[in-house]
Amino acid sequence: MHGYTHAIAVDFEATCFKDQPVQELRDSEIIEFPAVLVNLKTGKVEAEFHTYVKPVERPQLSEYCTNLTGIRQRTVDAAVTVQTAINRFTDWLKMELKVRNLVLPKMSETNPKGNCILVTWTNWDFNICLVKECERKKMRKPSCFDQWMNAKAIYRNFYKFYPYNFDKALSRLRLTFRGRAHSGIADARNLATLLVRMYRDGAPLAVTTDLSPELQLNENGGF
Ligand SMILES: [Mg+2]
Repeated sequence: MHGYTHAIAVDFEATCFKDQPVQELRDSEIIEFPAVLVNLKTGKVEAEFHTYVKPVERPQLSEYCTNLTGIRQRTVDAAVTVQTAINRFTDWLKMELKVRNLVLPKMSETNPKGNCILVTWTNWDFNICLVKECERKKMRKPSCFDQWMNAKAIYRNFYKFYPYNFDKALSRLRLTFRGRAHSGIADARNLATLLVRMYRDGAPLAVTTDLSPELQLNENGGF
């Protein structure tokens, strides 16, 4: 039994350009940072974090990016830096975990698996987007981002179905995407809905990627 009672769905939106070479997708900057904390037992969203982020390497959003995400130039122009977004997120995370007695993987000596898990759809958000941006901008990446569950991998193994995209993953289970697709917060809310369904169906929720497998516990309590 996995022991997770809560999950935090994260879905970054990042700068993108029409007909971009795949290699360049590694150089994206985060422009929307949403997180949805859901109680897997009740199915209730208990807290949300959301901020837009100002890109600085390529500050001008492409028309393609705005059409895809619905994020406007003036929104990111008025937004915070990615460092501020990360700081605000970790402050939010610490507080929300504490008030619920939740621990992430590798946070607690007495419960190293944790009872709450960060979840993304594919590995792109934490394995590529965040890692590469932190490297380029010389930012320290909090270690809570080192362990997560790739929901797509668990989904594929558990339901024995390879979803072509997120929408197909939902529709296969007769769930309907709510809100605007590729709006980060809507993507994260719909991922939270899917996670509740997977939990109820008995899917084996687990960390699928650990970027610091040599450590028993994360340094600095995960932050
Ligand atoms: Mg998205």
